Amino acid sequence: MRGTIVIDENRCKGCQLCTYVCPKHLIGMAETFTPRGYQPARLFDPHGDCTGCLLCAVICPDVAITVYRTPRENRQDRAVATHPQTAELGSESHTLSRAIDEMERVQ
Ligand code: SF4
Ligand code: SF4
Repeated sequence: MRGTIVIDENRCKGCQLCTYVCPKHLIGMAETFTPRGYQPARLFDPHGDCTGCLLCAVICPDVAITVYRTPRENRQDRAVATHPQTAELGSESHTLSRAIDEMERVQ
């Protein structure tokens, strides 16, 4: 699963809780200050490592973080290539994955 987050700096109070819980260490503090005088959290994810695990959003006491998730492309393709017996299953899973993609697109 690929993910990303958006931090609402108007809500963030700079408590840093999200920086501690991110298992990928992708959140740090900005060097700027908000109009209310807080140093807000910021996502630093140049390689797209966020998994959308939600931990940062759950821990945030100010509901300042929104998480977006999308299935990683080619995930089923890799499984098919590495294990021939998964080829048929991979095909079904790929169909399911595309169906989920479509459901998310229309929501
Ligand atoms: S969703 Fe998970 S991986 Fe992504 S920034 Fe938040 S805690 Fe880190
Ligand atoms: S947990 Fe929320 S309020 Fe605290 S630094 Fe992170 S985004 Fe800001």
